[in-house]
Amino acid sequence: MSASLHPDDMASLIVAHDEANAFDAVVPPIVQTSLFTFSSYDEMLQTYRGEKVRPVYTRGLNPTVRMFEEMLAKLEGGEDAIGFASGMAAISSTVLSFVKPGDRIVAVRHLYPDTFRLFGTLLERMRVEVTYVDGRDEAAVAKALPGARLFYMESPTSWIMETHDVKALAALARAQGVVSVIDNSWSSPVFQRPLTLGVDLVVHSASKYLGGHSDVVAGVVAGSRAMIERIRGETYAYLGGKLSPFDAWLLIRGMRTLPTRMRAHEEAGLEIARRLAANPVVKTVCHPGLANALPPGLKGTSGLFSFIFHEGIDIRAFADGLRLFKLGVSWGGHESLVVPAEIVLQQKAQPNSARAFGIDPRSVRLHVGLEGTEALWRDLEGAINAASGS
Ligand SMILES: *Cc1c(COP(=O)(O)O)cnc(C)c1O
Repeated sequence: MSASLHPDDMASLIVAHDEANAFDAVVPPIVQTSLFTFSSYDEMLQTYRGEKVRPVYTRGLNPTVRMFEEMLAKLEGGEDAIGFASGMAAISSTVLSFVKPGDRIVAVRHLYPDTFRLFGTLLERMRVEVTYVDGRDEAAVAKALPGARLFYMESPTSWIMETHDVKALAALARAQGVVSVIDNSWSSPVFQRPLTLGVDLVVHSASKYLGGHSDVVAGVVAGSRAMIERIRGETYAYLGGKLSPFDAWLLIRGMRTLPTRMRAHEEAGLEIARRLAANPVVKTVCHPGLANALPPGLKGTSGLFSFIFHEGIDIRAFADGLRLFKLGVSWGGHESLVVPAEIVLQQKAQPNSARAFGIDPRSVRLHVGLEGTEALWRDLEGAINAASGS
């Protein structure tokens, strides 16, 4: 379009946002509005009758949010997607769209702690039962699935990074008519595309790698048009966990560098995991990339993993001895982070997944950021030396 647009006309064009009205900007505008007005009674009527699709109110449809949804759906190989105000809003809205009292969920063990708490509190109160299985044990999964409504997966799992044959597990669920859902935050669509492996729905904490800059809390679910329509119709609008236009804009910005960032996290994370595994103070490193082969469908590894110290290392001194690795939860941003299990195990929140799943108190979770492998390794070595009194 012409560059000579009068400034007074800009606002109205952004409201009516479509590609032709984006000023040929390389970065899309943020449609930061709660509502959209109609040009006439007829247009409003047509919209309410469903004869015309256009934004009405941002909790329902917002062009910037829609742009993020379409981008993510494409990345995951889905037909459609819905953005949410957080990963937990995406997870709770998705699960609640498919279960009712008396139903049963089969879930892999070592779930993300707040998903575990959602299952153990709200869903339990709704009389939805959850059976936990070892996702590596396909016979156990096959045995648990018949009669279940939903199969909830993470691969790799939280904290201890157990990996599963997602394609095989999805096929087991499909054979039983059980809706399968996977939390794909760890891999991102760069390294794992579960919809292409036969999983029905993929959820993300977009606060992690999709955003990638630790400046947004958001979530998303992607899948077939029919299933996404069900979530849109049954829970999304009423639970109201709406993604804000500005956060959607931050996600669009972050996702442009997703493949590049993921490769950098992979390279640095794997190198640091290898050096830790070779260090005598370390008992075990839980990193999928240290196995002989990645499970089928997983094409790479990210920067989040854990390891277990031998006795004789003062974990408090280790944590306080770090300079580049900051003590903090979350992950997926540019910065490196560390979380000691012995603190998480003392968290008051009930149910506590770290206790329930027997997380080793001498384990530590690392997120390897983008500061550079050698600088990060020097930081870890210095802290290990301080913690071992050498
Ligand atoms: C952080 C996280 C979530 C929750 O996402 P929020 O955006 O914090 O609500 C869900 N799953 C995994 C694996 C996570 O790490």
